[in-house]
Amino acid sequence: MDLTLANPTAATPDCADDGAWLACIDCGWTGPPFEEIRYRCPDCDGLLEVRYDDHPTFDDFSGRGVWRYADALPVDHGVSIDEGDTPLYEVPTIEDEVGVAALRVKHEGMNPTGSFKDRGMTVGVRVAEKLGVDRLACASTGNTSAALACYGARAGTPVLVLLPAGKVAAGKVAQASLHGAHILEVDGNFDDCLDVVADLADRGEAYLLNSLNPFRLEGQKTIGLEMLEQFREGTGSLPDRVVLPVGNAGNTSALFKAFRELVAAGELAPDEVPTMTGVQAEGAAPMVEAVAEGRETVRRWDDVETRATAIRIGNPVNAPKALPAIRETGGTAVAVSDEEITDAQRALARDGVGVEPASAASVAGLRKLREQGVVGSDERVVCLTTGHLLKDPDAAAAAGVEPDPVPADTEGVLDHLG
Ligand SMILES: *Cc1c(COP(=O)(O)O)cnc(C)c1O
Ligand SMILES: [Zn+2]
Repeated sequence: MDLTLANPTAATPDCADDGAWLACIDCGWTGPPFEEIRYRCPDCDGLLEVRYDDHPTFDDFSGRGVWRYADALPVDHGVSIDEGDTPLYEVPTIEDEVGVAALRVKHEGMNPTGSFKDRGMTVGVRVAEKLGVDRLACASTGNTSAALACYGARAGTPVLVLLPAGKVAAGKVAQASLHGAHILEVDGNFDDCLDVVADLADRGEAYLLNSLNPFRLEGQKTIGLEMLEQFREGTGSLPDRVVLPVGNAGNTSALFKAFRELVAAGELAPDEVPTMTGVQAEGAAPMVEAVAEGRETVRRWDDVETRATAIRIGNPVNAPKALPAIRETGGTAVAVSDEEITDAQRALARDGVGVEPASAASVAGLRKLREQGVVGSDERVVCLTTGHLLKDPDAAAAAGVEPDPVPADTEGVLDHLG
C-alpha cells in the first residue's frame, strides 16, 4: 500500500506554532494555524489540513474522551462537555447474519448532543476562542447545528445556523433552538446553505465550523484512535475494515488522517491501516459515482433525496481528502436504498443499538458488500453509527411498531393481550 505521508514536508516551517501548522493538500502552501482565519489555500483554493512536527504513540495517550488524545491535536484543551469515549458495541445477531470474523459498532450517537459532531466542535470552538471571533456559523443537515449551538453556548459565543427548510429531523432543530442558536431556514438544500455560509465566512461575518474547517476534522480524528484502542482491547487484534456513512466525507478524511499519523508514529504498518469503505444513499451518491468511475473529483448532484437526511448532500466538500483515503487503503464506496437503510436501522435496534437513518447506512452497506463478495467472511469490521435514534423520532416511529389503543383498566388490557 502506498500511503500519502502524514507530513510530506520534512522540515517544520517557520510559521509553525507549538509544532503545528496549516498546509494545503494540493500545492503544499503552509501558514500559521492561529494568526489568521483561513478555510482554503490562498494560492490554489485547495483544502487545508493541520500538520505536526511529530506524532504521538498510543503510550502518549491518557485520560478519557477526546482530550485523551490531546497530544495528537492542535490545542491542549477544548471547550468541553465530556465528548468522546463512545461505546464499541458487539452486535451478535448482525455479525452472525452478515457472516464476518468480527463485527463491532462504534456508536457515535452516544456523544453529549447525540452525534460525532461534538468531537469536532470541542476542538473547533476552542480554536475559534483562540482566534478571537465573535460569531460562529455553519450550514447543516441538523447535527452540526445541534453540536455548534451547544458548544457555542458553552463558550458564550453567538451561533448562526443555516438549515435546508423542511429537511432537518425534529430532534436536531429542537437542540439548536434550545441551545439558543439563531436559526435560518433556507429555501434550498444543504449544499446551497453551505455556499451561502462559506460566502458569509469569507466576508468576515462569522467563523465557519463546517467540516471544511481543518480544526474540526482534527477532533473527529479521535474516532479512529479510540476505535483502534477499543477494538484491540476487545478482540486482541485490529480491524481490517471501517465502514462509515458519507455526507461531506469529513469522517472518511479524518479517520484516514488518524491512521496515517499512526503510521508516521510507527504504531501501524501501512498494511495495517483499515480499508476505508464509504456508504451513501442512492439518492445522494456523488462519492460512490466518483469511486466507480475512478475519478479524482466528484460531480456535484443538484437534486438529492433520501430519508437519511444527515447524508442528503450532493457536493461533498472533503472529497479531495476522502477519495485518496478510499483509494490508498484499497477501499470502495457503495450506495444503498432507503428501504435497505430502514432495514438496517431495525436490525441494529434488535441488537439494542438505536440509531438515526444515516447511521444505519453503514450496516446496510456492509450487508450489500458482503452479499457481493467484496467483503470477505474472514474480515474484522467496524461499522460507524454517527447519530442517535432520538435525533429523528419520526423516522424511528415509522420504522418501528404501532402502539395499540386499550382502555384504562386491567381487565381491558388482559382482554386485549388475549
Ligand atoms: C454529519 C453526519 C454524517 C456525515 O458525515 P461526514 O463526515 O460529513 O461524511 C453522517 N451521519 C450523521 C448522523 C451525521 O450527523
Ligand atoms: Zn494550495
